[in-house]
Amino acid sequence: MTEMRTLKVALLGCGNVGAQVARILIEDADALAARTGARLQLSGIAVRNVNTRRDVELPQELFTTDADTLVKDADLVIELMGGIEPARTLIVSALRNGACVVTGNKALLAQDGPTLYEEADKAGVQLSYEAAVAGAIPILRPIRDSLAGDRITRVLGIVNGTTNFILDQMDTTGAQFADALAEAQRLGYAEADPTADVEGHDAAAKAAILASLSFHTRFALGNVHCEGITSVSAADIAAAKDAGFVIKLLAIAEKLPAAGAETGGTEGVSVRVHPTLLPREHPLAAVHGAFNAVFIEAENAGELMFYGRGAGGTPTASAVLGDLVSAARRIVLGGPGRTETTTGHVPALGIESATTSYYIGLDVADQPGVLARIAQLFAEHGVSIEIMRQTIHTDSASNVESAELRIVTHRASEAALAATVEAVKGLDVINSVTSVLRVEGV
Ligand code: NAP
Repeated sequence: MTEMRTLKVALLGCGNVGAQVARILIEDADALAARTGARLQLSGIAVRNVNTRRDVELPQELFTTDADTLVKDADLVIELMGGIEPARTLIVSALRNGACVVTGNKALLAQDGPTLYEEADKAGVQLSYEAAVAGAIPILRPIRDSLAGDRITRVLGIVNGTTNFILDQMDTTGAQFADALAEAQRLGYAEADPTADVEGHDAAAKAAILASLSFHTRFALGNVHCEGITSVSAADIAAAKDAGFVIKLLAIAEKLPAAGAETGGTEGVSVRVHPTLLPREHPLAAVHGAFNAVFIEAENAGELMFYGRGAGGTPTASAVLGDLVSAARRIVLGGPGRTETTTGHVPALGIESATTSYYIGLDVADQPGVLARIAQLFAEHGVSIEIMRQTIHTDSASNVESAELRIVTHRASEAALAATVEAVKGLDVINSVTSVLRVEGV
């Protein structure tokens, strides 16, 4: 019997995820070898401080602060330090040395992905990053491999657990945003500085990755229109609930057909992150707490949904190990690293070209003919109304009646909707526009 080959694995970082990866590599060494066809030998773990107490008992001699030397002597490098530098330099160095690299670093991929992909292409090695989007959920490999024979038309993702937890709290308890955020921080779902999550930046980085793989074109963070959830109020949530919707922060990537002036007459991809109303019966509406899910529409497969834990040391380590075994199998089999296809060449469209349905809340005077005037104004701007509901309120002090009007439109362009809302604001019967929110899944 021929002896099994040994592949050296360098681990950069031993925090929440890295410590669990190291544990699994050691505990499950035999099973991983059987699945890979080679022994995966953890050759060292680079950290900032070798004396820090770790969540997991690991052999002390594995720890080093000399990441450069560790990387130079590895067949496979796992980068789980996070941040831009020194992670970028170390990944480039590993790729140039011919090592396959596995990373979960969405911030680095969003900022400098193309440079890293090119380095991997040039070296003919694999750069894998399943853990960078939706933690434990296998989503990038299914898009890249399982759906390689299909055409993806749309991806809708709940890819940030912090914001999903906050919006879910607001929906179930009626809490305001600030209180739900404080609860998320108390439970460890949100960081002390929650900006990257609540402003949508983390979801935008993941949207760029999802769009790039789905549409075989490299999209950068700058191509993603991004709105966070800080302006979503308890009143918005209550109104949405009343109308049969739930509000989720969605990462959306969709192919839009060649249309008129908005898309310049060519087809393109709209990549965006924003709070979105979903009908309560939509599969994504059932994603609660800090869970993640990605809903895909493909021409032949139809609708697919991937659901699971979007973060956490052990779940994320599962995704890292999957990438590691896949890269190691390739080394065992020989041949160049598998890279993404970038032959799509579809342009990124600006938010003004996106088409979606809208929910519009209006506080209007309770007078005869108001509904007809508003409906006519929508029609004049080419925005067709799907649902219009009116509720009458009486101010107990003044006894003055006003009406709350809730409108859901058919799909319309952002530009047409913005013009409609501006025109509506100019009507003398409008007291205020209480909310304008995008709707998907109707
Ligand atoms: P973490 O707990 O902060 O751990 C970071 C580790 O990297 C620590 O062990 C740290 O060393 C080491 N490190 C940082 N800078 C270093 C440097 N300059 N030189 C040497 N070592 C350095 O991070 P994490 O939560 O495990 O996340 C790791 C990566 O996975 C990030 O890119 C993150 O975005 C991604 N990710 C995380 C999750 C999750 O649930 N946590 C989910 C998906 C993706 P010391 O211990 O000595 O300080």
